[in-house]
Amino acid sequence: MPRAVVWPESVEDVARLVALANREGLSLVPFGAGSGVCGGVRAEPSSVIVDLKRLDRRAVEPGPVLSVGAGMLGITLENELLEQGFTIGHYPSSILCSTVGGWVAARGAGQCSTRYGKIEDMVTSVEAVLGTGEVLTAKVRARGPSLVPLLVGSEGTLGIITRASLRLHPAPAHREYAAYAFDTLEGGVNALRDLLQAGVRPTIARLYDPIDTVLFVHDDDRERPPREEPKPPGARAALLRAVLKKPALLARAVGLLESSVMRRAALILVHEGSPDEAREQARRADAICRARATPLGEGPARAWFRHRYSVSYRQAPLFRGGAFSDTMEVAAPWSRVLGVYEAVRRAVGEHCVVMAHLSHAYPDGSSLYFTFAGTEHGDESALTVYERAWRAALGAAIDAGATLSHHHGVGRSKAPRLAEELGAGTAVVRDLKRAWDPSGLLNPGALIPEPGPREARPEPAPSSEPSLDRESALAELPGSFTLAECERFVEAQGHTLGLDFSAFDGSLALNEWIARGLPGTPDRFEDPVQAPISGFTARLHDGRRIVVPAAPRRAVGPDLSALFNGMRQRIGHIERAALVAVPLGAPRPPRLPFAGDREPALDESERRAIASLCSALGVAAPFER
Ligand SMILES: Cc1cc2nc3c(=O)[nH]c(=O)nc-3n(C[C@H](O)[C@H](O)[C@H](O)COP(=O)(O)OP(=O)(O)OC[C@H]3O[C@@H](n4cnc5c(N)ncnc54)[C@H](O)[C@@H]3O)c2cc1C
Repeated sequence: MPRAVVWPESVEDVARLVALANREGLSLVPFGAGSGVCGGVRAEPSSVIVDLKRLDRRAVEPGPVLSVGAGMLGITLENELLEQGFTIGHYPSSILCSTVGGWVAARGAGQCSTRYGKIEDMVTSVEAVLGTGEVLTAKVRARGPSLVPLLVGSEGTLGIITRASLRLHPAPAHREYAAYAFDTLEGGVNALRDLLQAGVRPTIARLYDPIDTVLFVHDDDRERPPREEPKPPGARAALLRAVLKKPALLARAVGLLESSVMRRAALILVHEGSPDEAREQARRADAICRARATPLGEGPARAWFRHRYSVSYRQAPLFRGGAFSDTMEVAAPWSRVLGVYEAVRRAVGEHCVVMAHLSHAYPDGSSLYFTFAGTEHGDESALTVYERAWRAALGAAIDAGATLSHHHGVGRSKAPRLAEELGAGTAVVRDLKRAWDPSGLLNPGALIPEPGPREARPEPAPSSEPSLDRESALAELPGSFTLAECERFVEAQGHTLGLDFSAFDGSLALNEWIARGLPGTPDRFEDPVQAPISGFTARLHDGRRIVVPAAPRRAVGPDLSALFNGMRQRIGHIERAALVAVPLGAPRPPRLPFAGDREPALDESERRAIASLCSALGVAAPFER
């Protein structure tokens, strides 16, 4: 039990609370709606739960952007906006029970991410009370610097988010629905990748493996009335448990079925926007898919859309029957997606039944969302089997080159593994914490682990040779290469960085180009789905080297590229970067217009926050743009 639960009503209340916690030695656990699935809001007896739901004031401002209190509940907000003709485009399956602050803090993704991006692509500013009691208003700038990527994904450990501004889109006037059955998951993966790399941006794209297809893809588009009373666990539950007790046997049976009877991976697509735009996107997607798969008509996509929030709640009968089920979401570049899928199935198939789907795709890769279910086995309790399965699944995913998380975050359950992904970057996250929460009162135990040997291991110098992962449209380029050299290298292999070379001098070195905020890159507001930098190796001024492996998107703490992007090499420089390089001649994706301020002035709170960051990282001088 926590020491207390409090409901602040203003940013001033939160600042007073932080001052009190500093005086009394309390810890504060920011709480949105508690839907996080990684133990992010677990309290200690000395902690105070800060429930932010009374911070719910909202207003639509020019841009248009929505300025909204962090405690605003998702579904209420989105319904209200739709009535006014707008959408944020963020529809997590937990929209009924999650808040704006939780979305930002946990770096979430909604079902429409292939058009509107993840939450980090939607937010234009974040107001937070730091552990020092200072109020920071961080803003996104097209050419940097921006502290927003450091607050997004900080999971309540760096600041209590009190308000966010999110860009708005016109509510969609029209939707097109389609579904296709591929003979193999691999066929579906290739088609989905080709769609994204060809500039097609379906609003919703979901590819199911054969088991997931059998269980979750239907074309029953009827509204089902909610059951009044949950059914008691009966014969079906007993049968289910009996089946789940033999996971290895079950895995073999499923394998046999997959290769003979099921053999189909379903892809569901929904396109939205103006009628012309949605139809054009659907036509282009159909041209790519129809040649390789059997069209299933609109039914499965319409049925999925109608029941889009219910799927996550279907686990209840399993729990009632004494079994367990959980999900794990990771992400990887396209060239590793199938390897991650197979590795996790091999690792977890021994313990329980496992299935997967891909529901957030980008030009350079995709997320993989695994569902696994099991029960007690021999002398082992269901909890023991569950914990072993989790460890095995996550270990296999990381070893096969996936990120720790794509959108659920790290919390307490995955914190011990942070250094497996961020290496020495873990210590840099701890430095960030020292800068903005020096007494360590904000959400201790979440996200940031105790120092361990993995993060102390020095990283080797990166290769000075460029390389291209064609499948993932990712070019790994040395920081000393000029942008003209980078473009020549990728063009020779039929790809392009898609830069506007009239906006900057092509003889600029890649590291300096990043330090100046990536001039000439396509407007991120117009295509939020393609992020220019997928991973990097950087050297800090104090000599530490950090490696952030390439991944299409991650929810693994703050985005450390913000320490270099637009930061004029104040903190360190990039030695090697993985840039997204799409095939030459690929049509431009549809543009999402945005009329808001792209280069807001740096304010005093940001200057002070950058100064404390620099000093925690051993760089003393004030920041000049
Ligand atoms: C059924 C179900 C479906 C889900 N589907 C999705 C999905 O589709 N996409 C997705 O991204 N996630 C999904 N999730 C996970 C979860 O809903 C998200 O992580 C969500 O963003 C959490 O929001 P919340 O308001 O409930 O945050 P909480 O659970 O209350 O908190 C999550 C973390 O954020 C911190 N936090 C919360 N508010 C603040 C704040 N104002 N300032 C600072 N820190 C804060 C907390 O301390 C904690 O570390 C799902 C969860 C469930 C149970």
